[in-house]
Amino acid sequence: MIISEDILTTNSPNNLEFLSQVAEEVTPEEYGELHKLETTMLHMMEQEGGVGLAAPQVGLSKRVFIMQPTNGFTLFMANPVITKSSVMRMKFKEGCLSIPNKQVTTNRSRQVTIDYIDSFGKEQTIRLGGRDAIVAQHEIDHLDGILMTKYKR
Ligand SMILES: [Zn+2]
Repeated sequence: MIISEDILTTNSPNNLEFLSQVAEEVTPEEYGELHKLETTMLHMMEQEGGVGLAAPQVGLSKRVFIMQPTNGFTLFMANPVITKSSVMRMKFKEGCLSIPNKQVTTNRSRQVTIDYIDSFGKEQTIRLGGRDAIVAQHEIDHLDGILMTKYKR
């Protein structure tokens, strides 16, 4: 899986169009490439000082993202599906590496349960809360072509 060297930003109309696409599922034939993709995306995320990065942001239209939860471990998810989200919501000021110098206050579920494939191609389930739940929802939005600016009121 080839990714771009730089993070796509909405400053370019072509990039905005790409970022607004619904990304494709990772197929089992591609599971073997996930570990390398994780390493590359982690490096880019750290370089840019972000806490989350979705594949479409690096020019790859695949349902993959990486995030840095508050516990310090890295979470890499392919084909994530939110199976449960709390009715209880939480306001949070978000930023996005693809939308420089902008913050948007969103109101997302405080807790989510997510089924996903890890970088070894194994099925996993995780429950996230608070800031981690917000980051995961932001990144999964990217896979559906949804940018945080959608939530601007
Ligand atoms: Zn983002």
